Amino acid sequence: MQLTVLGKYGPYGKAGEGAASGYLVTDRDFRFLCDMGSGVLSRLINVIDVRQLDGIFISHLHYDHTSDLLPFRYLLEELEHPVKIFTHKEDSAWYRILFSHPLFEIVDIDENTEFEIRGVKLTFYKMKHAIDNYAILFDGTAKLLYTGDTQYNEKLVEAAKRADLVLADCSKPDVFIGAHMKATEGLKLQEETGAEILATHLAPDFSPENLFAGNDKISVAEEGKTYTVRHK
Ligand SMILES: [Zn+2]
Repeated sequence: MQLTVLGKYGPYGKAGEGAASGYLVTDRDFRFLCDMGSGVLSRLINVIDVRQLDGIFISHLHYDHTSDLLPFRYLLEELEHPVKIFTHKEDSAWYRILFSHPLFEIVDIDENTEFEIRGVKLTFYKMKHAIDNYAILFDGTAKLLYTGDTQYNEKLVEAAKRADLVLADCSKPDVFIGAHMKATEGLKLQEETGAEILATHLAPDFSPENLFAGNDKISVAEEGKTYTVRHK
């Protein structure tokens, strides 16, 4: 299974180079995008023909995870091609603005839904964020968990124990107060679960690299890099 980091920043990209959340997951002929924040679309079409996508997972409806869905519609209209969007239902104006388009085929997800696409099983876990956010577990030739945005919580620990690699929102400094994990909580998650952790959702002006120096199973995600996830 492969993971390509298209954008790793939040709430907006680093000056001159970064994009907000966007991750391409592939496994044999399976192709899936996780989140589509600002700056992700141009990087996505640089690495894939979007008609090959089996779907797009939207973890939650914050702008830094969704905003490129709007210009993406223009591309789909040009291609006259629909795409499946896997997300949880929400009664909000932003939900309707984002998803009310004939080329978006909405697939509702929650903790009870499960899908199998081209040999990859998808399951979802409700996390703890400022608004509803789901993590997704891809179970194919290996197991990859993407957390979306979340605070540390017991369900995350349980899901991470099943994963070979966890792409986790755990890049904040210790002084941070809010609905994301601190880098030190990423370390705690690694030690508690044994899973390999790729820390993402970086603030444009802070990288937790130094905090991870003593543990080779946790590192900071690099934009443009493709990681191979191996079954352990
Ligand atoms: Zn968020």
